[in-house]
Amino acid sequence: MVYISPNRLRLSASKITTYKGCPLAYYLKYVEHVDVPSDVRTVFGKVIHSMLNDFYDKNFKSPDSFANAWKYRWFRECSGETLSEKRKKIYKIIEYNTGKTPIRLGTHIRFCSQSSQEIEPLEVFFGYMKLGENILKRFYEDFKPRPPPILKESSFELTIKGNQREHKVIVIFDRIDLKNGLPIIGDYKTDKKSPEDNPEDKAFQLHRHPQFTLYSLAFRQLIKEGRLKGIIPDSIEKEAEIWYYHLRSGKIFQTFRSEKDFEYVTSLLDDVADGILCQRFTPFYGFHCSMCPYQIACEKYSVNFGGPRIDLEGRIKPAKPISWDDDLIERDWIKSELTQQENNKQIYPIDKKGQQYFPFMAPQTNQTPLPKNQKIKKPIQKTLFKLKPYKLPKTPSQ
Ligand code: SF4
Repeated sequence: MVYISPNRLRLSASKITTYKGCPLAYYLKYVEHVDVPSDVRTVFGKVIHSMLNDFYDKNFKSPDSFANAWKYRWFRECSGETLSEKRKKIYKIIEYNTGKTPIRLGTHIRFCSQSSQEIEPLEVFFGYMKLGENILKRFYEDFKPRPPPILKESSFELTIKGNQREHKVIVIFDRIDLKNGLPIIGDYKTDKKSPEDNPEDKAFQLHRHPQFTLYSLAFRQLIKEGRLKGIIPDSIEKEAEIWYYHLRSGKIFQTFRSEKDFEYVTSLLDDVADGILCQRFTPFYGFHCSMCPYQIACEKYSVNFGGPRIDLEGRIKPAKPISWDDDLIERDWIKSELTQQENNKQIYPIDKKGQQYFPFMAPQTNQTPLPKNQKIKKPIQKTLFKLKPYKLPKTPSQ
């Protein structure tokens, strides 16, 4: 176990999401720092975010030049050129022959989910490259004529007061704009589904997601602490709105929250900090595990945090298809249980009445007899008080 100091704990929206999704996944990611290949969607999101940041730093001349910069960045990221020396030693680079120039892809990115290994990594790589091109070209056309944000990709560390303790929290704002003199917090998302595809389901995420509420809490506190002085007008105390930029569709959605959401986030911070500091990292198994990059490490560490040992080899057995008509008697586990029962019968015999005898049921005569002249002493009963019989007092009539 690793000691986690309360002074060094920094919470963020993604840490909260990871801990609440599975405490063991949090432990493996943020405490043990287990190095695993990143999911292609996560890498895609990160590179798109950095391109949008560059959009305001560099003067791209056209949508095509912006898209070409993306392609170059995407190639470099996927071929492992941006990896640190340490990670270059861990991951391999595989060369794929495309007929023209070979494409190099590193194993530091998981291009296919565990359940869809049949999809070629190359197909996924080009699919995301095209998607990125479309997103960025549209973004260029939509935002080139518009004023830049007053803050972009800005990270702040602040202390938020919880109900039980104070929390050091890190928030990163994708962008903050001033519209009609009012501040708007914006968050870029590369999610597949737009809130319009499934309005009720997405509405739940948009308005309830703690990430947006945390932005709001942090923004208001930064203003109070005077840390946004000179960036936003002095008269402003809070954000006007929080917007969700759905990059795949190019649409922007407004989000809503209430005072109750702030109370909720404060208790969530308390809850997560408490769990982490008390080292409660119980694995939470479920269908979401299919998306988890820590499956192998999970098998190794789960037993330390209350997870069951999966089998004798310590590895999860591959799923085996069965038929409803199978004869269960043919199952290996039933055969081994029956053999065990047979062995037990031989060790512990059964009498005519069907009673099976175990060592603890051995008759009393088998106990070591007392030495011949030894008498069993009766325990001496001592009376502490002598009680006199109580006589009723005579009444005058008697
Ligand atoms: S495989 Fe499942 S239980 Fe294990 S760390 Fe990942 S999400 Fe948690």
